[in-house]
Amino acid sequence: MAAGLRQTHPDKDVAFLAFWGTAAAPVQVQAGPGVQVWVVNHTCKAYSLDDASCAAKAVWKQNFQNWKATGADVSGIYEYYLPSWGGWEHVPWVPGDAALSDLRYFRDNGIRYMYYEGVAFEVIEDAPIRWPLAYVASRGMWNPDLTAEQILRSACQRLFGNASEPMLDFYLECARAVEANPGHSGMWGLPRPQLSYTPEVVRTIKGLLGKARQMAAGESPEVLRRIRDVNECWAKTEQRLIEVKAERKCPKYLRIAINGTPWYLWPEDP
Ligand SMILES: [Zn+2]
Repeated sequence: MAAGLRQTHPDKDVAFLAFWGTAAAPVQVQAGPGVQVWVVNHTCKAYSLDDASCAAKAVWKQNFQNWKATGADVSGIYEYYLPSWGGWEHVPWVPGDAALSDLRYFRDNGIRYMYYEGVAFEVIEDAPIRWPLAYVASRGMWNPDLTAEQILRSACQRLFGNASEPMLDFYLECARAVEANPGHSGMWGLPRPQLSYTPEVVRTIKGLLGKARQMAAGESPEVLRRIRDVNECWAKTEQRLIEVKAERKCPKYLRIAINGTPWYLWPEDP
């Protein structure tokens, strides 16, 4: 197809996603000029690609290098951040340094384009706990050498005034909780939220939000309203952590296997 296109449009490329049936890189086919590949990151969303605890990461990275070895222009990554699909409705997901680490890996491997799919099933009421998900990733695309703390600190100072430090600690605690999740998952979700938001983490977070409410005394109405919004979201989070225990919506047959290693599309029970 690319060869035919190049006869009539020599400066145009054909691009496709390495996804589902086309996820595995061909080992005996070489790409001609004008073939671009965007590789979908199917792997666990709780961890970065350099996390050794997750078997799927090394398989994904090898497959990514195999795509490069075809000679195709591996120019883009299609990333799924869909927590509202994976049982994390109303639960904070801050990708933190895991997202930045992946962006550095992509940059160092010649990736020029990123696409984040992230709004499906989201509700605007979750924005006060969900904005760092989009914000860290988008600022990271400009400069992946920043840390999540650097990115979120400047934002929290603008949003929360005198309460910026405990609010920053709240979001960083959420990031730590996600990265400490011992479960594994796939591209459309995260491992079960209770594995991140343990009773101890919940206690820590309630303490931080209480501190933020105290330190915000005398702040502007906008700051007070933002902090109240986050607290209302967190009340829903605690309710959600109870509800999701009773749910089971992970059809096990939905999986992609590459070289024998499955990538779960839905959260997998630990
Ligand atoms: Zn995993």
